[in-house]
Amino acid sequence: MLLYNTLTRTRDELIPHEDGKIKMYTCGPTVYHFAHIGNLRTYMMEDALEKALRYLGYDVTRAMNITDVGHLTSDADEGEDKMVKGAKREHKTVLEIAKQYTDAFFADCAKLNIRIPDKVVPATSEVSEFIRVIERLIEKGYAYEAGGNVYFDTSKPKQYNVFHDFGEEDLEEGVREGVGVDGNKRNKTDFVLWFTKSKFEDQELKWDSPFGVGYPGWHIECSCISMKYLGEYLDLHCGGVDNIFPHHTNEIAQSEAYLGHPWCKSWFHVAHLNTASGKMSKSKGEFLTLSLLESKGYDPLAYRFFCLQSHYRKSLVFTYENLDNAAGAYAKLIERIARIGDEGDYDAAGAAPYLDAFKSALENDLNTSLAVTALYDVLKSPLNGKTKRELIAKFDTVLSLDLLKAAEKLTEKAEEKADDPRRAGIEAMIAARAEAKKQKNYAEADRIRSELSAMGVTLTDTKDGTTYTIS
Ligand code: AMP
Ligand code: ZN
Repeated sequence: MLLYNTLTRTRDELIPHEDGKIKMYTCGPTVYHFAHIGNLRTYMMEDALEKALRYLGYDVTRAMNITDVGHLTSDADEGEDKMVKGAKREHKTVLEIAKQYTDAFFADCAKLNIRIPDKVVPATSEVSEFIRVIERLIEKGYAYEAGGNVYFDTSKPKQYNVFHDFGEEDLEEGVREGVGVDGNKRNKTDFVLWFTKSKFEDQELKWDSPFGVGYPGWHIECSCISMKYLGEYLDLHCGGVDNIFPHHTNEIAQSEAYLGHPWCKSWFHVAHLNTASGKMSKSKGEFLTLSLLESKGYDPLAYRFFCLQSHYRKSLVFTYENLDNAAGAYAKLIERIARIGDEGDYDAAGAAPYLDAFKSALENDLNTSLAVTALYDVLKSPLNGKTKRELIAKFDTVLSLDLLKAAEKLTEKAEEKADDPRRAGIEAMIAARAEAKKQKNYAEADRIRSELSAMGVTLTDTKDGTTYTIS
């Protein structure tokens, strides 16, 4: 598989350390709030990557952390701890907040058909491991104690700024305005491995350690969890582009210092989802969640379809208009699949070129939009129903759009709908809504949509008109 590697800035052939096996690590969520749909884009593309690798025959083991401790908004001992902030906001303890939002995260993943990684490790369960690694870094001369904290010395590795993407100025700690420079540091890029002296007087979670009672810094958890659960050689490390610096840069510095050899060859980064007004950010407090989209009547898998239609390295602009287009296309796709029969025998020779097209889309830097095109080509093809269905099932092991299941449900619903005595009334209301929209009376159109929604009727607007389902 050819995959763009942020470290080499080229599309590299993915060659695992151990033949046929991929050790894959994903930076997990910070569980102080709901994941926003931008975060979920990253998790969906990582999920597609994992499933593509399995489809291509690799044996994948994947680990992910849950950041439930001391995740600071910067490396400086300032700003706010996001977990503490979340706990204060909701009058709960940090661990209650972590549990609540970890559950919410996995509920979102289930709705988007995101597979749970083989190992999911909360940071709070591995503090003794962090302490062990920090002690070793001190012994090896890569870390030092100053002002009560332990710092990583970024002048020690042969090359610290491995992703080359950032100029000296960008390497100012914290990469945020208004963050003061920490006078304990020997170099401005040094980062904290362990805090004992914190400006966060009300820090709830603290642990005893040889360096004093305190808590770990921002970056150590991913290095330790990855090395403990996936071994000394990692094949693939994933995250959003904002993780490149300082998080992944620091992970590499400390892991390689600890191990004494190169650690991870391939770095996969997903571009951001932005709104028309700019970057979506959890810390700003205003963001779009999957539940919000659902409350507006969108199927979570329509959002998955929306994301799959773009390449993971291109930033994606979210607008409701774009989502409507994707939701309409997804609904139509399901309708087309529902019309496919089950006639004939599986035609291996006929299926081969379509399988090749799908495989080469995946092998070529995870081109999910071309993979979706390969699916449409199957629908358009002269293949018999049985073969089409088998191909759709195969492709869906990666796309995870519930293609056959949703089509089956649609057929059942259509049968129920045909017999539903409310049908004529519903269709009259849909026509009245269309007329209200034509007259630009959007308040009336919205009122009718809400009334239908209360009756259990979900509408999907497509460019050919409105379709509906009755729950
Ligand atoms: P967090 O929970 O803030 O640590 O972020 C979880 C994941 O979402 C990380 O891999 C981030 O890099 C990624 N991420 C953050 N913001 C966005 C965004 N707007 N679009 C896509 N991914 C994002
Ligand atoms: Zn990480």
